[in-house]
Amino acid sequence: MKRILFATSEVYPLVKTGGLADVSASLPEALCRIGYDVHILLPGYPAAIAAARKAGSRRKVRFSIGQYDVSLWRTRLPGTAVTLWLVDCAPLFDRPGNPYQNDEGEDWWDNAYRFHLFAQVGVMMALGQAGLSWRPDIVHCNDWQSGLIPALLAHSHKRPGTVFTIHNLAYQGLFPSDTFRALGLPDSLWRLEELEFHDQLSFIKGGLVFSDRITTVSPGYAQEIQSPEFGYGLDGLLRHRQAQLSGILNGIDTRSWNPEEDEHLQFHYGKDHLKSKAQCQTRLQQELGLEVNGAPLLGFIGRLVGQKGLDWLLDVMPQLLERGCQFALLGSGETRYEEPLKRLAREWPDQVSLTLGYNEPLAHRITAGSDAFLMPSRFEPCGLNQMYSLRYGTIPIVHSVGGLKDTVFDLSETGIDRANGFSFHEANADSFLNAIERALDCLKNRKAWRRLQTNGMSGDYSWKQSARQYGELYQEILAQQQ
Ligand code: ADP
Repeated sequence: MKRILFATSEVYPLVKTGGLADVSASLPEALCRIGYDVHILLPGYPAAIAAARKAGSRRKVRFSIGQYDVSLWRTRLPGTAVTLWLVDCAPLFDRPGNPYQNDEGEDWWDNAYRFHLFAQVGVMMALGQAGLSWRPDIVHCNDWQSGLIPALLAHSHKRPGTVFTIHNLAYQGLFPSDTFRALGLPDSLWRLEELEFHDQLSFIKGGLVFSDRITTVSPGYAQEIQSPEFGYGLDGLLRHRQAQLSGILNGIDTRSWNPEEDEHLQFHYGKDHLKSKAQCQTRLQQELGLEVNGAPLLGFIGRLVGQKGLDWLLDVMPQLLERGCQFALLGSGETRYEEPLKRLAREWPDQVSLTLGYNEPLAHRITAGSDAFLMPSRFEPCGLNQMYSLRYGTIPIVHSVGGLKDTVFDLSETGIDRANGFSFHEANADSFLNAIERALDCLKNRKAWRRLQTNGMSGDYSWKQSARQYGELYQEILAQQQ
């Protein structure tokens, strides 16, 4: 059985700021199901250590790295059989707030130190130097927080294979050049071809330059990041590594996201018995204080940041409100988006519900109760919400980029047999509005709408297929190493 160390900075349900946490929970489990021995490596954040204590787990080994005492806890990811290793180093990881920022939303000042240490532990485990009997054949790293692992492993003899997955290229882990010296990284790494990026230290380049294979979370995004528009200055490097770069679409957790037995819904439904979806809608309108009047209900869930196309949403909302549409919005993020959304919710109390904060149960109810789900993302590496929506018979209206392009098929482009939603290509609010208008027209035609719903609900969004593709990638690397 091949052993995989899956290094990640967040994993659901212990710590989550975005889609990476969902992937880090679901993919290892799916890989275990097809015969891989996957262990997750996670920083020992307070919630994770508390869960390990509660499960009766213990520290397995202790060692020092520089000035820090480090211990490794061995536990299981709650609700699964997957082994989870926690890097316990209180001065770096035992703090409130989110994994990357303090309560004021500022990056922790010592993020470079925190994730350098995390990488050093990953390297020790990879090389069998952590005092454990378990040693991986492949280290699978995710985003910049684990980017230094492939770089630090690159020149070791008998190293395991390395995979680096880009979940979002916009986050690169850039630090001033003197941080490079302060971390004591080998001088040889300070080159434009290695970790230097415009006189800064780039953690993500560690993964992009040195890993045996690079993946990203959809075929569409794998293409896009090779262009200057989506490449953030790394497109040249990614084109250079084109032969090692591929896109593997994320799956979703089909157990917790299942309209037939979703624990957060009072009414359940499925592809062949959609009737109760209307009850979910009425319930949601009552819960959110929206008028129950048969108006189209449009959902949005996500981080309120520029990436998610909030400016386009704010542009189109007034016109749609005039026409009677309702909005169920859930998310938190930047004040520049929160404030105008709050204003709209105050001005249109019967038609706009805004819930600020993170609320998993409500996310399920909005997904089930909305007619359509809005994802006008400027870019979207994969996106999960459109797949949740498709599974819940809620029609996605999306900007045709990245994973949205790979999963949502527009009625006017693919025809009624294959279509499952609406998409727009031009990056502006008018095109977004046009896609919504086409959707609202279609909503009046019950038969066509129903067909889109069943097309969407018939799709396979599970991890099965994707896990198989990752498995093939691991096998290729291992075959090349022999
Ligand atoms: P990203 O990783 O860019 O934030 P994704 O669509 O890949 O976007 O994943 C976001 C995940 O987080 C989804 O599971 C989404 O439902 C969830 N999510 C985002 N914001 C909230 C929120 N405020 N409440 C509940 N779930 C949220």
